[in-house]
Order: sequence, then structure tokens, then C-alpha cells
Amino acid sequence: MHGFYNRILYVDLTDKKFWEEDIDDNLLKSFLGGRGLGAYLLWKNLEKGKDPLSPDNVLIFATGPVTGTKMMGASRYAVFTKSPLTGFFADSYSGGDVAPRIKQTGYDAIVIKGASSSPIYLEISDKGVKFHSAGHLWGKDTYETEDKVLEEVGVPGAQAVTIGPGGENLVAFACIENNYWRSAGRCGMGAVMGSKKLKAIVFHGEKSPSLANDKLLDDYVKSLVKKAKNDPGVAAYKKYGTPQMVAILNKAKAWPSEYWSRGSVDHWEKISADYLLENFNVTPHACHRCFIACGKISEVLKGRHKGLKIEGPEHETIYAFGGQCKVSSLEEIAYLNDICDRKGIDTITAGNIIAFYMELSRRGRVKEKIEYGDPDKIAHLLYKIVEREGIGDVLSRGIKYAA
Ligand code: SF4
Repeated sequence: MHGFYNRILYVDLTDKKFWEEDIDDNLLKSFLGGRGLGAYLLWKNLEKGKDPLSPDNVLIFATGPVTGTKMMGASRYAVFTKSPLTGFFADSYSGGDVAPRIKQTGYDAIVIKGASSSPIYLEISDKGVKFHSAGHLWGKDTYETEDKVLEEVGVPGAQAVTIGPGGENLVAFACIENNYWRSAGRCGMGAVMGSKKLKAIVFHGEKSPSLANDKLLDDYVKSLVKKAKNDPGVAAYKKYGTPQMVAILNKAKAWPSEYWSRGSVDHWEKISADYLLENFNVTPHACHRCFIACGKISEVLKGRHKGLKIEGPEHETIYAFGGQCKVSSLEEIAYLNDICDRKGIDTITAGNIIAFYMELSRRGRVKEKIEYGDPDKIAHLLYKIVEREGIGDVLSRGIKYAA
């Protein structure tokens, strides 16, 4: 079928072996797209009742039929597993530049089974799979790991996904990171990778699937770009990115605030998109072949975090720390964002679970006090969650367990 290779790669980390299996057109048509394919493969490969953090769980990476083509915005890879956070089906998606490289390995999806007895990273390409030791990388943050594995593999244009100490320590909301700041953030994908002692995967290759009509796709992409040129929604995303939602939702009194007890915060203008553009050094940043470029590389220009650079913060991170935890400085939110990205934990769940703890503290239900809005106490708690120390261990298991 055009857009696919009809080939799935299986990797067994326990026995360090890999094999390919064909997948027929009927299945690809029935479960069209990377999302459908990933869901089908999870259903097929995971037995009922298995522990998400056991070797019996599987971790699946999938791309779709237009990934790696000229199609605008086809920049996402999808990850599927049984979530250690919810105990249920989980999918999570990440942008950046990795998805086209996954596609170029020549597989429609990659199913990772079993668990290694010691830390490893994988190199997956159109020539097969290499198993590399990752003992020297265990404990390192996601940025350093990404740099290191790409340097060690040494293939120009290769891309990597990594986990940080959060994933290694099986924090239930650990994520998979790529391009430093892009995350398959939801549902604990990083913890499943950590449970398999899989620190990173590097992708490279030169394959591309056949297209039904190259010219038609070309024309369609051109028409999309033309249409988007004067679209006010596209213009707003280009200029403000997702942080534009801070103003919209606060004005509508529909912003998650003070652990879901209010619909806005008084300080929202200090953590808005306008504030970001006026007070940070902001450079637009796009995922692979995206004309919107909603991402923002933002450098802090003043205060104690001067010089800190991240892509973001995105709206969800701002609401989690700025709304739910009531941090009133965007520079401090960028700092907390950076900790989460480096340690490889999801900013959304992290902010929400700390806000939950703050509310418990306000009600006098916990011994260790932490007031709303205190970025240093939040940072301290984030480190404790990642290292699973004391109350951090309780929170690392997710909100249901903590409650
Ligand atoms: S730059 Fe923004 S709009 Fe474009 S693909 Fe990435 S996340 Fe989506």
C-alpha cells in the first residue's frame, strides 16, 4: 500500500534479537494511520493483565503514511503502551525532527518487547538494529544523553529519543524526549522505557515508501500553504504559539487555577504570550516541514535564570505551574520547565500533582508544607519526585496513588 512499507520491526531486548514481520494491506487500511496501526499492534502484542513496568509490556513507535513526505506538519511520531500511570491503553505524540527519520528506517512501526538486564541504547536503521551498552549514560539527563548517543553513532542527520533519570527511576509520568524539548509526554512512556533499561534509540536510514501521486501531493501542499498565508488562526499561532491560550482562557475564566478551584489567576498577564515576546529573546521554531512554527526558542534575559534557553514554555506547562501552582513569573516557569525536560518528566502531570500537594498543605493534611507560588519549593519537590525520595516517592506514582 502506498505510504507504507508493509513491514513491522520487532526488537526483543531480553535476548538482544530482532526480526521483521509483514503486515498486509487489509490491516493497514482497516487501522489507517500511525495511530490506528499502533493501537492494533498493542492489542495484538500485549496480553491482558500484564504489569506495565514488567518485561511483558510492549513499547511501540509508529509513524503514518504521510510522515517523511512533503506534507506540511507531518512531523509526529506516536508511542503506544500500557500506561504505568493509568494502567490503561496509552498513546503519546511528539513533534520535532525524529518522525521522518523513523520512517526512513524502512518500518511502519517498531515493537519493543522484553527488558535488558543492563542499560542499553538501540541504533535502528534500514540496515537493522544494533544494541549498544548505555551504562555510561545511565543517570545522565536527556539533553546530554541525546548529544552523546548521536555523537557515538556518528551518522549525519540521525535523530534520537531519550529518557532521563525520571524514566530510569520509573516515575509514573516520565516521558520520552527528543530534540531536547519535544516530548512524548503523557502517560509514563519514559517509565516503560526505563523498566526495559532502554536509555535511548537512535534512528537513521535512507528508505522512503512509494507515493500514489507525487504531483497531486505537491499541489495539495502548495494549496495548503496558500490558504494558510492569510489565515488569522495560523498567524496567531505563528506569532504567539500556544501561550496565546493564557490570555484567552483567563479572560473567559476557564483556566485551570489553584488546583482546579478557580478559573483564572490575578497574575496571568505576567505569564502570558505578550509577556514572553516582550521580555524573552524569542526565536520561532518549527517541527519538520511545518509552516506554522508555533514553537518558540525562548531565552531568559533577566533575573537569576538569565541565559536559560528552552523551547517553550508551552501553554500546558504555563497552566500547570503558573495556574495550578500559581507561580507568577514566566522566568521561573521556564526554569521549572527546564528541570522537567532535563530529568525527563511530564510538565503537565508534574505541575498538577504538585498543585495537588500544595492544596493538601493548605488544608493542613501533610507534614511538609509548601505554599502556592513558591518556585524553589516546587523545584525541590520535582527533584524528590525524580529521585523518589520521601514524599517524592508517593507523588512519583501518580495522583490516584497519592490521593
Ligand atoms: S511547529 Fe507547532 S504547529 Fe507546527 S508541527 Fe510543531 S507543534 Fe505543530
